[in-house]
Amino acid sequence: MNFEPSDEQRLVQHTAREFARRQMAPVAAACDRESRFPMEVYRQAQEIGLVNMTVPREFGGSGWDVLDCILVTEELAWACIGITGAFGLNSIFADVFHVAGSAQQKQAVFTRLMAGEFGAYALTEPGAGSDVAAISTRAVRKGDRYVLDGSKIWISNAPLANMFVIFAKTDPAAGHRGISAFLVERDTPGLSVGAPLGKLGQRAAPVAEVFLNGVEVPVSALIDEEGAGFIIAMRVFDRSRPMVAALALGLLQRCLDEALEYACTRRTMGRPIIEHQAIGHKLADMSMRCEAVRLLARQAAWLLDSGRRNTLQAAHAKCFAADSAMWAAGEAVQIFGGMGYSTEYPVEKLFRDAKVLQIYEGTSEIQRNIIARELSRS
Ligand SMILES: Cc1cc2nc3c(=O)[nH]c(=O)nc-3n(C[C@H](O)[C@H](O)[C@H](O)COP(=O)(O)OP(=O)(O)OC[C@H]3O[C@@H](n4cnc5c(N)ncnc54)[C@H](O)[C@@H]3O)c2cc1C
Repeated sequence: MNFEPSDEQRLVQHTAREFARRQMAPVAAACDRESRFPMEVYRQAQEIGLVNMTVPREFGGSGWDVLDCILVTEELAWACIGITGAFGLNSIFADVFHVAGSAQQKQAVFTRLMAGEFGAYALTEPGAGSDVAAISTRAVRKGDRYVLDGSKIWISNAPLANMFVIFAKTDPAAGHRGISAFLVERDTPGLSVGAPLGKLGQRAAPVAEVFLNGVEVPVSALIDEEGAGFIIAMRVFDRSRPMVAALALGLLQRCLDEALEYACTRRTMGRPIIEHQAIGHKLADMSMRCEAVRLLARQAAWLLDSGRRNTLQAAHAKCFAADSAMWAAGEAVQIFGGMGYSTEYPVEKLFRDAKVLQIYEGTSEIQRNIIARELSRS
């Protein structure tokens, strides 16, 4: 067993770390305040290959494994998890085509992502989030076309997206087996995107509703075959959850770094607060969780890259990472005392940004359901 990153992985990590600290960290607070996605930073990241990382080399991408991607994601997320999350959304969109796209769809989609376009992944609806099988968006076949009607909510990057993967029911009576996935162009008549939704944290990442009103797409827009949508969504989760764990890890490491520095300089009762055991132990616990999350995330990614099933490990990593990040952000605010509550210091943003990690890509409750189910299968 070897835990050493390769020379190439070290180089990529170093590049990402420098980029995060020089280009992302300085704009993070303003982007959060203004709920602004920093397109100029995205373009710079694109130039040096830090976005669309899984796009195969034949289409101009880096063609990296999920493990390489999570090394980069951890570094970028240290600077701002909101910006990094929005940067990473194209990868989740691309994952659909990695797991189920036809050669033609891959060619079209990957080429367009590399040309600077954005994709969004639209599964959740006002009436169906955790309960994927309950989606009610319909796709009805009419000759050589499908007609889509319904609405989606909480769709990350929808305000930026040129293309969407839309999940819809082709056979409502078949439950989760009746779900299909479609590639839909933003400018298709009948598709509209709502105003960006206001949110607690990760404000640099734009999120909106998507409305489908008689949206006609050719049959070639169907991804894989009718009824394959649920399996596609689950396979995408196996790829995306280690990435979300890496996002959480970046935030967790930032909590530790900020809190450690503060605890070494802030003095009470004649000594730095790190010398009060209650504070020192919080930092020790943060450090342990960082290392544990790092190992879980890398293991989940490595299994996938080795062609093995990683559903259990991806759920372990995502759930433990999200819960640890939320816990650590609360403790970081506590270590900063009153200053932790101030917008002048970065930890209040970390606290707000952390929460959604326990909600998107499957809530922490749903991850535990998956873990229990996987345990019962073994
Ligand atoms: C900022 C943000 C970005 C997002 N981006 C996207 C995106 O790009 N694309 C997309 O498709 N979706 C996206 N989502 C949606 C997200 O995946 C859902 O919000 C999430 O899956 C939860 O669904 P819900 O909101 O409907 O909550 P519900 O499913 O209604 O859950 C409510 C509560 O009940 C719990 N619960 C539900 N069912 C069970 C159960 N069986 N056992 C135990 N507890 C249960 C949940 O854990 C939760 O605590 C995003 C959400 C947010 C907030």
